[in-house]
Amino acid sequence: MLAAKFAARAAAARRPGARLSSTVAGPSSYRLVVIGGGAAGLAVSSTLSEKLGANEVAVIEPSAVHYQQPLFTFVGGGLKSFADTHRPTADVIAPGAKWIRQAAAAIDPAQNTVTLADGARVSYEYLVVAAGIELDFAGIKGLEAAIGRDGVASNYSPKYVQKTFEFLQNVRSGNALFTMPATPIKCAGAPQKIAYLADELFREKDVRHRVNLSYYTALGKIFAIDKYADAMNSVAQSRGIDVNLFHDLVEVDGPAKKATFQILGSGPRAGESVTVPYEFLHVTPPMKPYDFIKRSPIANAAGFVDVNQYTLQHSRFPNVYAIGDCSSLPTSKTAAAAAAQAKVLKHNLLRQIRGSVGPAASYDGYTSCPLVTGKHKLVLAEFSGYTGKPHETFFFNQANEHAFSYWLTADVLPEVYWNSMLKGTWSGPAAIRRVANPVSSD
Ligand SMILES: Cc1cc2nc3c(=O)[nH]c(=O)nc-3n(C[C@H](O)[C@H](O)[C@H](O)COP(=O)(O)OP(=O)(O)OC[C@H]3O[C@@H](n4cnc5c(N)ncnc54)[C@H](O)[C@@H]3O)c2cc1C
Repeated sequence: MLAAKFAARAAAARRPGARLSSTVAGPSSYRLVVIGGGAAGLAVSSTLSEKLGANEVAVIEPSAVHYQQPLFTFVGGGLKSFADTHRPTADVIAPGAKWIRQAAAAIDPAQNTVTLADGARVSYEYLVVAAGIELDFAGIKGLEAAIGRDGVASNYSPKYVQKTFEFLQNVRSGNALFTMPATPIKCAGAPQKIAYLADELFREKDVRHRVNLSYYTALGKIFAIDKYADAMNSVAQSRGIDVNLFHDLVEVDGPAKKATFQILGSGPRAGESVTVPYEFLHVTPPMKPYDFIKRSPIANAAGFVDVNQYTLQHSRFPNVYAIGDCSSLPTSKTAAAAAAQAKVLKHNLLRQIRGSVGPAASYDGYTSCPLVTGKHKLVLAEFSGYTGKPHETFFFNQANEHAFSYWLTADVLPEVYWNSMLKGTWSGPAAIRRVANPVSSD
């Protein structure tokens, strides 16, 4: 039934002159407004537009294209095609939801309104903020001028992800550098995943003995959770990848092909800077909350939407919720986390609408980071960002590189994303875990 509605909506969107992406001309009002039609926004709006009825839910989303970002790592490593990563927004947005194809520019929670980029206002009874996190390429001196040319690429942007594989293939010798910034980022494992794929590619091309691979992270550990940090240190060591902690990329000199790092921490070299020549540079840009959120009363001091970490409800405005990368939830920002959060948010929002009958649902900080280490090899980190403890779905030790984990991540989860998560029916592997690994720390 739902699939048929999606198909009909997609067909209508493709008809000449179709205008499903509407611009709001005058004041308009919805029961629920969702800001952002990314992984989290669609997981929430699909279900809630079904439950609340046609045109009761509006999704404010400026992009005509929806990207499945977890696939970007595979594209950068040459293991998937870029075409696999994206679909028209018209094909993935719920049929019963109104798509407002604009950016939100301001939020006024006292008046229950969102102002759009063209100045029109949309009012709501309930608001879900799911706008993601902004890439800040300008935050590193020289990076905007350098990226996309002469060996500088980033899997983090659809604009540059194909450059990663293109440039990696051209490397014959010299230094290949991979960076991780000091700010909160989405998928904190992705900055190092591409280093392992590059190592494998260089070995296949028989140039590895002439290329030095170095991972530079601004943080003091290779991964936040000890169990997986130990695993990744072993992987890096066995591959001959040099790991530099407390090194924050501050400048890229594109013409000279040099990267400058500032040394952080409290060690003897803290405060110094070091400049390294490169043949290839993979940059994970700093990231920051969007300005329209940061400036609004719903932000916390850091600029993220200030929500209760268990209920996802705003700490001061009870008809406002947030989910995913834009939220203040103190866990690792991933699509896997957003899937688990979506179930909790939908339950609690519907409960509030229905008069707060029955118990509220609680989010436990679950997140997952599939650390691909090569073709058919992957360390499947699953943990709670709240407890810092692993929370694994399967009975085997997921810190070991495994072909099954690779298959699951590369072949199964992308289908789950398109066919279930975006339709609101995938909320993470908790049900599978209860069968496959009943002794996992629940
Ligand atoms: C290279 C890479 C690898 C990754 N690997 C993994 C992985 O292996 N596993 C995993 O679980 N996660 C992974 N992630 C992270 C995952 O993609 C994100 O955590 C997830 O997409 C977060 O969902 P979101 O809806 O919060 O944000 P997004 O999916 O980024 O969606 C935000 C949406 O808001 C829209 N928006 C922005 N500004 C406005 C505005 N002003 N008004 C309205 N809408 C706006 C955007 O256009 C976008 O559609 C990876 C990400 C990258 C980049």
